[in-house]
Amino acid sequence: MPLPDLTQQYHTTNLVVRCSDFRLRNHIEDWIDKTLETADELVGLGAGLILLREGRAQAALEDIRALRQLHGFSDVWFIFHTGCGAYKHFRGGTTPELERAAQLEDVEAIEKIMADEGLKPHFLLMKPSGQFIPFEA
Ligand SMILES: [Zn+2]
Repeated sequence: MPLPDLTQQYHTTNLVVRCSDFRLRNHIEDWIDKTLETADELVGLGAGLILLREGRAQAALEDIRALRQLHGFSDVWFIFHTGCGAYKHFRGGTTPELERAAQLEDVEAIEKIMADEGLKPHFLLMKPSGQFIPFEA
């Protein structure tokens, strides 16, 4: 069933896709308030990893499409983090180097998915303390 077009009524430019890890929530909420002001949020293990995991990817993409239809965003902010249990569990990220390599590989795959959806992706890496750091160490 098609969703009603509410983009004029409730609009945001941004969707934030973040990891479920509780340590990040307050930092990301603060960052949204200060930087983006408004954003829809999609929360799942490993942030952007939800778009790549078998059994999860299709549902995540459907969520993004539905939210976009409701609120009309154009930009998607993927906030990955260091010490991510999801990357350890699902992607063999047992060391900081392996975790970063897997995340960078996933960034490339997600860029393609976002291009197909006509959305503009942004990729950020956060420490659990809330500090943003570059992907390339
Ligand atoms: Zn995580």
